[in-house]
Amino acid sequence: MTAAPDTPAAAATRITPDARVALVTGSSSGIGEAVALRLAAEGIRVVVNSARSVEAGEKVAAALPDAIYVQADVSDEAQARHLVDSAIAHYGRLDILVNNAGVSRPVPHADLAAATPELWREILGLNVIGTWQTTVAAMPHLARTGGGSVVNISSIAGSRPAGSSIPYAVSKAAIEHMTRLLANAVGPEVRVNAVAPGLVETPWTQGKDFFVPIAQKVRESTPLRRVGRPEDVAEAVLGLADAAYTTGQVLLVDGGAHLI
Ligand code: NAD
Repeated sequence: MTAAPDTPAAAATRITPDARVALVTGSSSGIGEAVALRLAAEGIRVVVNSARSVEAGEKVAAALPDAIYVQADVSDEAQARHLVDSAIAHYGRLDILVNNAGVSRPVPHADLAAATPELWREILGLNVIGTWQTTVAAMPHLARTGGGSVVNISSIAGSRPAGSSIPYAVSKAAIEHMTRLLANAVGPEVRVNAVAPGLVETPWTQGKDFFVPIAQKVRESTPLRRVGRPEDVAEAVLGLADAAYTTGQVLLVDGGAHLI
């Protein structure tokens, strides 16, 4: 039996000045917020980030022990660098990077004309290039710890013919291969892994028309018979962040959806 995680308040009692530091992109809501909370509950100091939802991001950081909020759009190279620089300016170290910020726009896969070049650029610009440039900015700091860890957030759409649009699914496939290529390039100082969630109930999916039929199918036919929670993904992120002999892996966290 595993022990229940601490609450952030309980973790505050054991945050030490040399505690590890994690940067979680897109952590003002949904999966990123759950990851920030889960890492903080382990006594890790967290940099919370979003591009636009400043108030929500500040609220997440304020609820955590020794966390800061930094506004930055990681699809912009200068802002991605500023985000990492702010983490280092405040804490002097960076141990864990979670590349969670992502975007999609629902486009039926058969409607090829609707997946415009502008849509491709927007989605690849954040999901792929944003992940890349944040990782590049963070790498020297992660390497300096001697045990740095990157966890990228992919999707079941990265390996299955599914997902809200073809550009989105392709962006997640690119993240998965980037994960393997980077793992090979930056070891032994830094490990790079990815978590690929199935359908998760977050502000991104809740109340959206496309969510209802997919959620119903997930509840009826996947082995675990429920839609994912942000906390399910956060648990896997923490596990990979700390898995000392694991690198270049993509872990599906989908309630078994890939089996149907
Ligand atoms: P969400 O909309 O709740 O959260 C997205 C977060 O990213 C927010 O904090 C938002 O402010 C931030 N963000 C958006 N653009 C940004 C930018 N340019 N720079 C920095 N931050 C930015 O969505 P979510 O469902 O929690 O999704 C988080 C990640 O999980 C995404 O990468 C998504 O592809 C992935 N994912 C989600 C699901 C799902 O079913 N919800 C499934 C698989 C993968």
